Amino acid sequence: MVTQVQRDEMTWYTCEDCGLMFDNEDDADRHEERCDATEPTYLQ
Ligand SMILES: [Zn+2]
Repeated sequence: MVTQVQRDEMTWYTCEDCGLMFDNEDDADRHEERCDATEPTYLQ
């Protein structure tokens, strides 16, 4: 799932599955379709 976050006065789109951030919603959506992460990597 992609979530929208505000950071440094910019809107970012974060893949909740792996934690990757995008500045473009289309890129985030495209990534999410291919993302096979089972756990957020930022927790490791
Ligand atoms: Zn991902």
